[in-house]
Amino acid sequence: MKTNLRLLLALSLSLGTIGQSYAQSKKAKTSADATSATNGKTVSVTQGGVGRWAGNCARCSFGQKAWLAVNGTCYYPVDMEMKPGTYTISRRTTGGKLESAKLIVTEKSFKEENFNDFPKKEYVNVSAQNLARNRKELALVLPLLSANRDELPPVFDLPVGKPAEPLPQSEGNFGSFRTFDGQERDRHTGTDFPVTAGKPVRSLANGRVLLAANHFFSGNSIYIDHGNGLISEYFHLKTIGVKDNETVKKGQKIGEVGQTGRTTGPHLHLGVRWHGARINPGLLLIDPAELPDVAGETTSVSNN
Ligand SMILES: [Zn+2]
Repeated sequence: MKTNLRLLLALSLSLGTIGQSYAQSKKAKTSADATSATNGKTVSVTQGGVGRWAGNCARCSFGQKAWLAVNGTCYYPVDMEMKPGTYTISRRTTGGKLESAKLIVTEKSFKEENFNDFPKKEYVNVSAQNLARNRKELALVLPLLSANRDELPPVFDLPVGKPAEPLPQSEGNFGSFRTFDGQERDRHTGTDFPVTAGKPVRSLANGRVLLAANHFFSGNSIYIDHGNGLISEYFHLKTIGVKDNETVKKGQKIGEVGQTGRTTGPHLHLGVRWHGARINPGLLLIDPAELPDVAGETTSVSNN
């Protein structure tokens, strides 16, 4: 186990980019199975939130997934639709100790947004042609988003950079339930920021462009992979300034704010997926010390 851990640390130090294959990173996998007792350590996280376990972490696991710590801290993102209840999380410390804790997912009441007299009618009563187009686009995007990139080393730290400068107060509509002219539609998976059209949109962190394309609902869209299973999404752009597979830097201009796709006006839609969980993007912009942390005495439950 110790050899594996050293190999893993060496790998994560030597790989400055996120371009290595999953198969390669899988070799360095160490076990962080959540089979041990939790010794009363608990953290409460709302749906769409992020819990953390700070200090001396090497690896982290939650459910069936495991990943590397980000600069010594384990982060446990909770999907906006995760069922409230008690789950087990675990971490392996840099010293090789395996520890577990309880993560309690609490229910969050999300906003309702009703768009009446929606201006772009083609997005309310969608034609068969556009429905077919959307299906094609989803068939391209969903596999990209669900591919397992958890083992890729992180090329970011929290807080990430702002997607626009200055960044106006968000509309607080992450996870909202929405209707368009009275018709129920999918929930909102990101947060909208009322940024003026034409303003630069910037990458939250270093990364690689997974996809940059014009899609029916999301308009001009960019998806960026930041390693560690973290993907950021920027929608409704006026222009796209990057290409698929391009490497980007934190704060780099990647496009301009617009109103393409299903919008009522110009704004920046920012979405974040982390280890597959759709979380409130605003949580990556604040001091990570403000995120709920595993409480209680840290007691080793196994040492190998
Ligand atoms: Zn949006």
